[in-house]
Amino acid sequence: MRAVGETGLDHFRTGPEGIAAQERSFRAHIEIAKRHGKALVIHDRDAHADVLRILAEEGAPERTVFHCYSGDAEMARICAGAGYFMSFAGNVTFKNAQPLRDALAVAPLDLVLVETDAPFLTPAPYRGRPNAPYLIPVTVRAMAAVRGIDEDAMSEAIASNTARAFDY
Ligand SMILES: [Zn+2]
Repeated sequence: MRAVGETGLDHFRTGPEGIAAQERSFRAHIEIAKRHGKALVIHDRDAHADVLRILAEEGAPERTVFHCYSGDAEMARICAGAGYFMSFAGNVTFKNAQPLRDALAVAPLDLVLVETDAPFLTPAPYRGRPNAPYLIPVTVRAMAAVRGIDEDAMSEAIASNTARAFDY
């Protein structure tokens, strides 16, 4: 076992009646991750401020990963300050995802990860197919372009960040 998660808060799928229960389990998962020295993988949907607040209140585990990062550049600066990993999915390639690309542009290279979120968030120009790991290079290529670095440099950074995040 490499990580506790995904855990966190989802204000999109859960109404106000579910918020207290989500917060309670999120706090418990943070404690479990710290107690066992595991990474914490966070699901944050429409709940950026509350996720950041609870992490700060509880004290985040040493290795904290925002799965399917969806914040803007301002949030990326906060995550960078706290040393949180930001894991980008295929939606970073979407036409309307400029705020996500702006976040990737300011995220420290040593905190950037990639993921599929399969079968969702298939990168452009393959939207409409189920997403799967074979499309990861498409996402990485787009991420390299955002950073203005070549694909190999992006891949090497992600490989070493992944090893650090998940303690390989
Ligand atoms: Zn999720």
